[in-house]
Amino acid sequence: MAVIPLVPIFHSFNRLFFDRTLTINQVPILKLKWSDNRLTTTAGFYKRIKINGTVQSEIILSKPVLENSKLQNIHSTLCHEMIHAWVDLVLNINEVHGTNFMTKMAQINSQQDYFKVTIKHDFPVLRKELKHVGVCLNCGDKYLYRKRMKNIACKKCCNLFYKGLWNKQCLIVFDN
Ligand SMILES: [Zn+2]
Ligand SMILES: [Zn+2]
Repeated sequence: MAVIPLVPIFHSFNRLFFDRTLTINQVPILKLKWSDNRLTTTAGFYKRIKINGTVQSEIILSKPVLENSKLQNIHSTLCHEMIHAWVDLVLNINEVHGTNFMTKMAQINSQQDYFKVTIKHDFPVLRKELKHVGVCLNCGDKYLYRKRMKNIACKKCCNLFYKGLWNKQCLIVFDN
C-alpha cells in the first residue's frame, strides 16, 4: 500500500502553526521521509545530523506503524516532529519535551480539534502485526514483516555484494 505524501501536510502545518519558519523560499529546511518497513519501535522521529559541518535534519515517519493508521495519527505524529524541528532549527534551543515544546503543542491543540499532538505517540505501535521473522541467508540479519514474503533479498547484502541487484545468495527466508 502506498503511503500518503508528507510534503503537502508539512506545508500547511508550516503555514498554520509555525508562521512559515520551517521553509526558506518555500523549500522545507529539513528532509521529510517515510521509513522502510523496519522502523517498528516508534511512530516517528526527528534527527539532526551534521555532515561536513552542515546541518541536515530530517523527520522520519514509520511506514509500518502509520500506513494503516488513521489520518489524524499521521498528522499528529508529523506535527509532533515538526515541533521538535522548530525548537531545534528555529529557536535554536536544545530541549526534548521542554517548555518551548509544550507551549507550542498546547497552542496547536487549542487552534484546532481535528487532531491532538501528544508527548508520546500514544496510539498502538503495531508490533503484534509484524510477527513474521525473515532471516537473510547470507548475513543472518533478521527483519520483521506483516506476512511472509517470497523471493525477497536482504537489501544490505545486495548492496554490499551484488551492486544493489537482487541475488538469491541473500534471500530472506521465513521459518514461522
Ligand atoms: Zn518528541
Ligand atoms: Zn544480509
